[in-house]
Amino acid sequence: MNIHRRPISAVSVAAAAVLGLLALSACSGASENTSGDSKGGGKLKVTAAFYPLEYLAAQIGADHVAVTDLTKPGVEPHDLELTPKETGRLGQSDVIVYLKGLQPAVDDAVKLSGVQHKVDAASLTTLESHGTEVDGTHHTTGDNGAGGDSEEGAGADPHIWLDPVKYAEVAKGVGKALEQADPANAAEYGKNTDALVARLTALDTEFRDGLKNRASDTFVTTHAAFGYLAERYGLVEEAVNGIDPESEPSAARVKALHDLVKSKHVSTVFFETLVSDATAKTLAGDLRLRTDVLDPIEGITGKSKGTDYFQVQRSNLTALRAALGAK
Ligand SMILES: [Zn+2]
Repeated sequence: MNIHRRPISAVSVAAAAVLGLLALSACSGASENTSGDSKGGGKLKVTAAFYPLEYLAAQIGADHVAVTDLTKPGVEPHDLELTPKETGRLGQSDVIVYLKGLQPAVDDAVKLSGVQHKVDAASLTTLESHGTEVDGTHHTTGDNGAGGDSEEGAGADPHIWLDPVKYAEVAKGVGKALEQADPANAAEYGKNTDALVARLTALDTEFRDGLKNRASDTFVTTHAAFGYLAERYGLVEEAVNGIDPESEPSAARVKALHDLVKSKHVSTVFFETLVSDATAKTLAGDLRLRTDVLDPIEGITGKSKGTDYFQVQRSNLTALRAALGAK
């Protein structure tokens, strides 16, 4: 019996191998044709921590990726909490794109996820800490660096995406990560990355030109999200709150802002779309200043002035030009 069994099992192994090959080729053939597959069948599963990273992954990955955003639209991404279900689902990703230091709960979950392709956007460009010097003290609040990993430097400003040049650097890194995770579509990821970087370079030129002939340099905003943007174009950001938009300013800070508004001829107090604007409105009311929206693009909602990163950035440019008297 044994003598007979051996060849049979050898045949069945061979048959299984052939069937396996058939199944494999059928599968890859199917994935090329099923663009309408909603469950991400055959697509690279990318989890992005919040909107600007989701946007990069979706633009670069196009039809080859199914992107999930951990931060739902309208939710403020700083200090996002994850449910156990979301943490579990993170482990099913092919690629995770996050920004270390912005969302400590996400940082922890990423570390434990076991996912091979993880991209930390903070590692793709240079992070700095941005303080606003008003009353002689370095005004950086926020929880960044406090209690969390301090490898990236305490108080590092995470808002790199608001500078088109830094965002382009992050785009290149995300493109490379997709190429590594899915070599079959590497050429297309490379092409899409180049196209996105070209659009960001054009946006940088629009900001540079649009802010060239301005009457003043200083703008006041609720949430210290525009430090990189300010630095790129030679502006000065004075934030009512710190890097964490939900912190409250001290009485001393409010007094300092009052003085600064007068000495720097500030016309406008900017607030944002995802967080309560009560503090900014009070300040503006007390000082008889205009209010306007400067959007940190941490999420797109029905209230956003535009439906994607580029549209909202152009709205930001228009608002800054008006506030700074640019011609
Ligand atoms: Zn922020």
